[in-house]
Amino acid sequence: MKSSKSYEELLAELNEVRIQLEESNDTLEAIRSGEVDALVVKNKDGHQVYSLKSADHTYRIFIEQMTEGAVTLNKDNLILYSNSQFATMLGLPLEKVIGQQFVKFIIPEYQNTFRALILRAWDQNIKAELLLRSSTSNGLPVLISMKTLDLDEGVSMSMILTDLSSQKETEKILVQKNEQLEEAQKIARLLNSNLEATVKERTRELEITLSDKTRIEEDLRNNQERLTRILETMAEGVVIVDLEGRLTYANPMAQKILCGSKDEKLTTIFGCDQWKNLKIDGSDLPAEEHPIMVMMARGKEVYDYEIAVQPKNAERFYISLNAAPLRDRYGNLVGGIGTFMDVTNRRKISQQKDEFISIASHELKTPLTSLKASMQLLSRIVSSNPGSEKIPEFLDKANKNLLKILYLTEDLMNVSKIQHGQLPLNKTKFNLSTLINDCCNHVKADSSYNFIFEGDEEVEVCADYPRIDQVVVNLVNNAVKYAPDSKTIKLKVARENGMVKTSVQDFGIGIPPEKLPHLFGRYYRVDPSGIQFSGLGLGLYISAQIIERHKGTIGVDSVLGQGSTFWFTLPTA
Ligand code: ADP
Repeated sequence: MKSSKSYEELLAELNEVRIQLEESNDTLEAIRSGEVDALVVKNKDGHQVYSLKSADHTYRIFIEQMTEGAVTLNKDNLILYSNSQFATMLGLPLEKVIGQQFVKFIIPEYQNTFRALILRAWDQNIKAELLLRSSTSNGLPVLISMKTLDLDEGVSMSMILTDLSSQKETEKILVQKNEQLEEAQKIARLLNSNLEATVKERTRELEITLSDKTRIEEDLRNNQERLTRILETMAEGVVIVDLEGRLTYANPMAQKILCGSKDEKLTTIFGCDQWKNLKIDGSDLPAEEHPIMVMMARGKEVYDYEIAVQPKNAERFYISLNAAPLRDRYGNLVGGIGTFMDVTNRRKISQQKDEFISIASHELKTPLTSLKASMQLLSRIVSSNPGSEKIPEFLDKANKNLLKILYLTEDLMNVSKIQHGQLPLNKTKFNLSTLINDCCNHVKADSSYNFIFEGDEEVEVCADYPRIDQVVVNLVNNAVKYAPDSKTIKLKVARENGMVKTSVQDFGIGIPPEKLPHLFGRYYRVDPSGIQFSGLGLGLYISAQIIERHKGTIGVDSVLGQGSTFWFTLPTA
């Protein structure tokens, strides 16, 4: 077998190849380290050298320092230059990158996209996002910025690849966060709308509660005001005490009754320097026997419990107390409320009634007893001595006693009539002097009396004759009764200020000045014991009522021990 090349030739060829290889390696090393600015590339037209038109050493160092990948492609999309950052992105050594088809470093799904992009990039600058094949990750997202580059050997494509993985990661995280945020916002919105609904509901409830509260408060205020007004204007005293009997409230009337003035502050219910409580019999009233304390001890109401109050500088008076317990919501006794009123008049009236009954029965009994005695004597005389001269005398006595009884019962009936507004007047025109001269014949019959009449004998009045007669008789009878040691009675009729004044003057016992204002009251007697003078205390009361009904006035002038002048006026006819 004949070899076409000798061993030396083959050795020389091999040596050349080795030199070429070494050169290639050197070239590659030089390119990698940036020591060369030209590259010999073998393509279908044979070997071709590429050099960067404006590349210089500084510039390449700068490119090597970049955090972006920097790649240059030729028209066939072959990688002419790559910085080490791009190789790092791919996770490959630089030598496995340079001279390779760029498209093979794109993940398959994006390769067609890339092809379409690069086609357009030869005409215009393009920016796009793609996924690189990477040994370290499945698809490294990059932003590729493509721009043509004018090299000595012709136009090439420069590409800057920015690693978007952290940006994408950030974006992903951002998306996630956004999603979470949206979710949170959704929840927040939901919560918010729930909250809003709840707030609305609560606000509505609150508004209702508030308006209820306002209404209740207003009702309460009104009630309190009403209660205060009632308490302030009540005719009864009201006091409130705590369990120990300490005063916590007193209305103005309580102050007025116990202290004598609405402005005087009442501090206690048990008495103080200015007044003290007494039992009805006049003995001291211990605190525990105060009706309010009695009520609290019993735990139940007391009614119409009368005690006396003795002020320091005024007359004793009497109060009637009602007391009721005050309890808390659990029913525990916490104090007491007492209402009271001055019942002095009530007591006086009832005393007067008692006195009146005793006086009236006594007054009636005296003439009745005399009448009975006269009748007994009469019947005895009539049967034993029918012609006895004593008979007229006893008949006269009996008559006088009958008249007394008649007057007494008439007085009582008159009072009752006045009380019921039934004292009709039957007015006629008459001469007053004539009435005075004709009346009191029973007194005038007693010759020991000295009747003196003076004054206008012509004056006429229009009045109820029998009623005016009743008044004059009553005044004359009193002049007789209350002047036992004087037999002179002066009667006078005179015109005065368009009225006629009639007066009856006696020279008897007279009346103490402090008693004068009460004389015309019902049942009033200067000496209620009736020891010296009998009577019901009704004559002057009835007279005053009669004169008042005639639109006149009644009065008295009196000097104790010297006598009295009772007078009345009537309108002239
Ligand atoms: P009575 O005479 O029945 O008691 P009256 O109403 O007539 O009732 O009089 C009331 C009181 O006025 C008498 O109790 C008496 O104390 C007093 N009084 C009336 N008239 C006189 C008088 N002329 N002088 C003194 N006191 C009189």
